[in-house]
Amino acid sequence: MEANYDGIFVGETLRTRIACYYICQERMGIDLDRFEGTVKDGLLCSICRDVLEDPLQAPCEHAFCSTCIRGWLVHERFCPEDRQPLSDSDLRPIFRYMRNDLQCLLIHCINHDNGCDTVQTLEQISYHENECSLGQIQCPNHSKGCSLVLARHHLNSHLSTCEFRSSLCGGGCGYSVLDSERESHSCISELRTELDILRSDMVCKVEEIRQDFKTRLDSQRADMVEQKSVFQLQLDQFKSVTSQLQHKIRVLHALETKRRRDLERLEIEKKDIISTLLSALTDNKDDLGA
Ligand SMILES: [Zn+2]
Ligand SMILES: [Zn+2]
Ligand SMILES: [Zn+2]
Ligand SMILES: [Zn+2]
Ligand SMILES: [Zn+2]
Repeated sequence: MEANYDGIFVGETLRTRIACYYICQERMGIDLDRFEGTVKDGLLCSICRDVLEDPLQAPCEHAFCSTCIRGWLVHERFCPEDRQPLSDSDLRPIFRYMRNDLQCLLIHCINHDNGCDTVQTLEQISYHENECSLGQIQCPNHSKGCSLVLARHHLNSHLSTCEFRSSLCGGGCGYSVLDSERESHSCISELRTELDILRSDMVCKVEEIRQDFKTRLDSQRADMVEQKSVFQLQLDQFKSVTSQLQHKIRVLHALETKRRRDLERLEIEKKDIISTLLSALTDNKDDLGA
């Protein structure tokens, strides 16, 4: 995409961009062709150019279908109408008068092409469309295999002949049986099949429980082995600390014995010195007296 001199996309480029964006998106907006008379420009989404569907409004008051503007804001950060900065959190519900104008627009039933001529306000049309006899619906037996899509008013006549219709078996097995299979239905074989399924389910469950139990037992065993080795390690540490302490006690004991012996020896030496001193003193006195 080329930009003009001040970096803003030129009008033509922006329109191309909106068109490219729109082609890539899921269709949103209510088809303008379904409305009676002219619809005011302000009620059109500038992205899809159809009538606003589930609308949101930017602070610049431009309104868009919520899907259209959210899709636009995935890649852009500005309003597609006037290029003012815009982000998802700026979006608000549209003004009440706009909502009223929208709801009062007259619109054809979505089954118009199938022959429904009903025209109602946008506010009311969904009530009609949910019940419209020309609306296309799936046969209620589609989960059993009927792929027919038909107009609502043909449903009753189809249901009376639908090959996938079923009803409760009168034999008491409790099964709902397709009309086409009623001839071949046997309550006993149905119940036997169900029993077989239940039995194989039970075998599976028992095996699951057994496996689960074994896994838990294995993990408990592994835990115990680990705890034992931790305990053994602690015991070894305790033993080594104890033997170190015993060694220290022996050393201290030897030191104490030596100290005591030294003390005794010193005591003897002290006594010797004192007695030597005393005898020397006595000798001195005698000498002085003589
Ligand atoms: Zn739109
Ligand atoms: Zn704007
Ligand atoms: Zn209709
Ligand atoms: Zn059917
Ligand atoms: Zn039966």
